Amino acid sequence: MGKGFFNVPIAVNEPVKSYAAGSPEREEVLETYKEMYNSQVEVPLYINGEDVRTGNTQTMSPPHDHQHSVGSYHLAEKHHVEKAISTALEARKTWSQLPWEQRAGIFLKAAELIAGPYRAKINAATMIAQSKTIHQAEIDAACELIDFLRFNVQFMSDIYMEQPESTSDAWNRVEYRPLEGFTYAVTPFNFTAIAGNLPACMALMGNVVVWKPSDSQIYSAKVVMDVFKEAGVPDGVINVVFGDPVMITKTVLSSPDFSGLHFTGSTFVFKELWKQIGENIHNYKTYPRIVGETGGKDFIIAHHTAVPQQVATAITRGAFEFQGQKCSAASRAYIPKSIWPEVKEMVIKDVNSFKMGSPEDMSNFITAVIHEGSFDKLAKYIDQAKADDDAEIIVGGSYDKSKGYFIEPTVIVTTNPKYETMCTELFGPVITIYVYNDSDYSETLKLVDETSEYALTGAVLATSRYAIDEATKALENSAGNFYINDKPTGAVVGQQPFGGARASGTNDKAGSAQNLLRWVSPRLIKETFVSPTDYRYPFLG
Ligand code: NAD
Repeated sequence: MGKGFFNVPIAVNEPVKSYAAGSPEREEVLETYKEMYNSQVEVPLYINGEDVRTGNTQTMSPPHDHQHSVGSYHLAEKHHVEKAISTALEARKTWSQLPWEQRAGIFLKAAELIAGPYRAKINAATMIAQSKTIHQAEIDAACELIDFLRFNVQFMSDIYMEQPESTSDAWNRVEYRPLEGFTYAVTPFNFTAIAGNLPACMALMGNVVVWKPSDSQIYSAKVVMDVFKEAGVPDGVINVVFGDPVMITKTVLSSPDFSGLHFTGSTFVFKELWKQIGENIHNYKTYPRIVGETGGKDFIIAHHTAVPQQVATAITRGAFEFQGQKCSAASRAYIPKSIWPEVKEMVIKDVNSFKMGSPEDMSNFITAVIHEGSFDKLAKYIDQAKADDDAEIIVGGSYDKSKGYFIEPTVIVTTNPKYETMCTELFGPVITIYVYNDSDYSETLKLVDETSEYALTGAVLATSRYAIDEATKALENSAGNFYINDKPTGAVVGQQPFGGARASGTNDKAGSAQNLLRWVSPRLIKETFVSPTDYRYPFLG
């Protein structure tokens, strides 16, 4: 720090715009969407502040219209990844020495760029690339990313203020050094905000980054990178590579200077990366930090005292918004027999009222799933449920990929609490419900805890405080984010720090100071004012 103890702006959550019919924001985003949809963009790699065109390209198509092209992106070869690493290490020499307030200024500016001039663009790109409705794009690409950027600056300032006690003859100071080496961000398709936050929060703490976005999110990742550039992130600090994830990761993880992995994605991939890091451990100059937020099999359990309408809404919103492709989406529910007829009727009515189609038509609540692989997997589970005796589809169950990857929101009811779709993460608009006897609440809580390997989010709905208390205790380790009388989705930065344990991740809570602490290595400096001159202690006399 230079010449003052600076206060950072107090972080506030970005208000969510409504996009109601006739609003200026609706008009602007639709115009931007049309313009982007009907043009071709070329997305190069971004290494050391330069656009790198490799000539080996891949087409980008919206999931809701897979034969339509919106452009292409360039694929990296091994030497591009090596270049990204070496330029990051070169940039570290100056970036890691830059006073923190300069880094803060860059990312606060990025937040304001998204809140203002880039808002329509980042939302439209997310609608096109990930097939989000405008509401889902707004709460993710605009608001959540703005919140991450603003709150992280505040968390950084709080961390730097955390200092040890000193005495009159010795002054103790802690400085929060960036990790030695370079860091690696691997990001998922489903949140533009996560994609932007993973590299940005490491860079904010003084680190240099190689960022590999998901192939299904490149269009919106490009807008994020445009924002970072305009905000003033210096050359080489965040380098972006696309392409074969296995080759890119192998190249990165075999570098002796690799010092941290910030991953969000599926559990299997994260475990593979962790294994590779283990295999390379003798080559590294430092023990790498490993942070991974991964899959979920998120639950809703209702008690017989719950309000049926609230249970039904928690199910329909929690399971089907963004086609169930939120890591926090409800995908298994346990409903007591006495309220089930009412809940069932409302859920079926709600689901039948959903409109499905392109996000450009703002009356659509449901759009397409991300890609053909996901579509085929979901169709397979739906077909299996149709064939199985212990499962029944009570609403939905159709699918069609002729134009886009459309899966009808589907509710499966099973008589087998360990039915496959009660245990496995499907990551789509499918929820499975198990109806239990009202008197079996305690046993059912045990089932909730033991049914899946994950522990990301979960919700209990009840009006009885005893029932809420019992669930809170019984499900202590079943979810990192636990909701009472709400759906299990929709965590807000600064309010509900997010992450789960067990197979759901390292639970380093994105959107909190805890996460930022993983990207620094504290150095304690003790300064003694009058140094001793004789080794003899009084007790020796
Ligand atoms: P994914 O695991 O398929 O991909 C995530 C990233 O890993 C992508 O960049 C991808 O290219 C890369 N990748 C894939 N295979 C790889 C390999 N063999 N080696 C190296 N990198 C590889 O996940 P996804 O489909 O993009 O996202 C959905 C998953 O992410 C779900 O499981 C969801 O629960 C999880 N998720 C979790 C959270 C959380 O906070 N816990 C948040 C968002 C998403």
